[in-house]
Amino acid sequence: MTANPTESVLTDPTTNGQDGPLLEVEDLFVEFRTRDGVAKVLNGVSYHVDAGETLAVLGESGSGKSVTAQTIMGILDTPPAYVTGGSIRFRGQELLSQSAEKRRQLRGDGIAMIFQDALSALNPVFTVGFQIEEQLRIRKGMSRKEARKRAIELLDLVRIPNAKGRVRQYPHEFSGGMRQRAMIAMSLALDPQLLIADEPTTALDVTVQAQIMDLLAEIKAERQMGLILITHDLGVVAETADRIAVMYAGRIVEHGDAHSVYKAPGHPYTTGLLNSLPRLDLKGQTLETIKGLPPSLLNIPSGCPFHPRCPKAQSICSAEVPVNHDLGNGRYSKCHFAEEVVRNG
Ligand code: SF4
Repeated sequence: MTANPTESVLTDPTTNGQDGPLLEVEDLFVEFRTRDGVAKVLNGVSYHVDAGETLAVLGESGSGKSVTAQTIMGILDTPPAYVTGGSIRFRGQELLSQSAEKRRQLRGDGIAMIFQDALSALNPVFTVGFQIEEQLRIRKGMSRKEARKRAIELLDLVRIPNAKGRVRQYPHEFSGGMRQRAMIAMSLALDPQLLIADEPTTALDVTVQAQIMDLLAEIKAERQMGLILITHDLGVVAETADRIAVMYAGRIVEHGDAHSVYKAPGHPYTTGLLNSLPRLDLKGQTLETIKGLPPSLLNIPSGCPFHPRCPKAQSICSAEVPVNHDLGNGRYSKCHFAEEVVRNG
């Protein structure tokens, strides 16, 4: 897979898109055709993001969080990845029906993505300033002087001290937290309307994590951007997410407003994720882990894919695939016993 940290999807200026969500992913299916077989990586993923809100997409490694983001960006390599169904609309514009060349041409100032590993995403042989300025010159037609001025402003915006000096430095001269800030600056250079942050704080210590999350929240609010925050860590999103989508085995198993999902999850997998997290609001809490491992996507368990690991599984669970249970107020859960799980945990 190739991934340019600053790649983005351009807005079609003829599409005002103000009536619908900023981004709408609907019933998305992706498979990886490998020598070992066909891995069903996404199995009907649907979610949306509005301007000015944060959607946190949660789940363990291999749940499909990043593949969904890469499909949105159009940066999956085919082969082995094939989109076999569904729709992705950005401001009302269907992205999947466009040719690869058109998708590439469209990347510009609509959707930008930041990746977890800033060191490998930044080019080590160019200065941080050059990497920001290059986009501004090519995409926005700025002169060198204008681009340098803007690069310094962007480094200031993400609170890199002494931006005027730092703009001339190389990525290896930045600390881990500063590199992540530089990545954020790069992703903001073209004024995207939607930012996808894929595990943006994983490699950082807790204090720097909190600073980066605060920074993203502030920038999102100022610019009324949509933000998709991909993480396996519920703690990271506790303060910042408006809505949560929980992924397991390439599907959204629970979706809802962050407060309700935290307070009373409607899927045993979400309960498991929450129980493995230390919480200040629960005294005497015992930390638990979810038993077993995520399933192989080459061989997804029958019925509910979570059943081999689920403490609440009953005989129906291995026999029938659960449909979405509507829990009200935009909440839903793919569990046969969703209402009971909300009531009793
Ligand atoms: Fe557990 Fe069954 Fe619900 Fe799946 S459907 S999460 S196995 S109780």
